[in-house]
Amino acid sequence: MNSTLLCDVVVVGAGFAGLMCADRLSRLGYTVTIVEKAPAALAGTSSRNEGWLHAGTYHALSVRDRREAAAVAKRCRFGWEEIQRRFSECVEAEKGKAVAILPEAKLAESLSRWEEARVGHVRLSASQFGHIAEHVRVGADEAAFAVDDLGINTPMLAASLIAELRNRGVRILLGARILGRSDDLLHVATADEAFDLAHRFIVCAAGFETERACADLEIPPVQVRLWRSHLVTAPKVAPVSVFGVAPQQAAMINHGAWSIIGFNEDATLVDRPTFDVDPVIADRLEEAVRWRFPKADLSAARRTACVKVDYAVHENSVRSLNVRMLPVLDNAVVVLPGKMTEAPYSANVVASHVFEMLGQGGVTARPIDTYELTNQGS
Ligand SMILES: Cc1cc2nc3c(=O)[nH]c(=O)nc-3n(C[C@H](O)[C@H](O)[C@H](O)COP(=O)(O)OP(=O)(O)OC[C@H]3O[C@@H](n4cnc5c(N)ncnc54)[C@H](O)[C@@H]3O)c2cc1C
Repeated sequence: MNSTLLCDVVVVGAGFAGLMCADRLSRLGYTVTIVEKAPAALAGTSSRNEGWLHAGTYHALSVRDRREAAAVAKRCRFGWEEIQRRFSECVEAEKGKAVAILPEAKLAESLSRWEEARVGHVRLSASQFGHIAEHVRVGADEAAFAVDDLGINTPMLAASLIAELRNRGVRILLGARILGRSDDLLHVATADEAFDLAHRFIVCAAGFETERACADLEIPPVQVRLWRSHLVTAPKVAPVSVFGVAPQQAAMINHGAWSIIGFNEDATLVDRPTFDVDPVIADRLEEAVRWRFPKADLSAARRTACVKVDYAVHENSVRSLNVRMLPVLDNAVVVLPGKMTEAPYSANVVASHVFEMLGQGGVTARPIDTYELTNQGS
């Protein structure tokens, strides 16, 4: 016979979206069980990204619509602040050790966007830049700024988060297959045991496997788009992290003795999740790296590719920027976090929604919490 486990919320997926949602919900006092199909946490995109803790620097400039750009940048800064404050052990570089390079022609617009999104920046003079100039090429028409972006050790961040979750009593079922759902019971099996999870709410945070997970959970389907992009990992190519802000420029974040480098924009739509590397794109990326970092030794470079998801509001909507929480049932949501750095923000959105749906947990409601009920029909 299956063991029955009781919990308030089942979170499906132990990537950063799922872990952060479990964090918020357990802090609110809900009992949480995480169901992860892989034998270890962080099996999807969260362990194959650039480890760039965004300070809003890039997105404040790259997103065409100014208002949306500022919103993405502020969500990033929210995560950037929280992750540094709570998980300082995982931050890999000192503050002020990243440089953003932007075209002089766009300086006025860029500076006003950074001001609006409260993105920290200090213009670097040639002499301030001098100590890294031998490693980094800056064009005559470009300006360099010290910015707040950081590298983060993603496995260590996950380990710290998981330790906190376990201390708070969150149960994490690894290698767990979802077998089906009936009413408020989710049927799950690990290699050794089968469980019926009696729950009040489901949070689906399954990343690029969202569509499949919705089917397993027997909740209404959410269609996501899949975007593949590439990274190159090489022995450190410059002493500080450096990124240009134009689309086809290299964005490099240092992690100890290594640099992870991607294009700002190389995401292309794919029809299935894949880690396959497109050699043409990877060659172009290495060219962009060589241009910006003429001394880079790419002989030992490793090329990887991974997929991120977004939810297509309309055909041309901006990719990967739309943090989404989609309520698919009264007691189920699907969450797409946008960037890893935005996961703390999206977890807050999920926590507020669950709190509203599950009730106030023994706390007196405010007048505004009862306003809609008492004014229905009036
Ligand atoms: C190449 C690349 C570089 C990136 N670089 C950065 C960066 O530098 N900084 C940044 O902020 N963001 C970056 N991102 C985005 C970021 O990595 C993702 O937005 C984030 O990791 C997504 O987290 P997630 O938890 O939603 O998904 P995932 O990390 O994919 O986690 C989903 C989890 O759900 C599990 N799962 C799936 N289906 C089921 C099921 N049926 N049952 C149980 N478990 C299931 C999976 O095994 C997985 O562990 C990058 C993305 C890519 C592709």
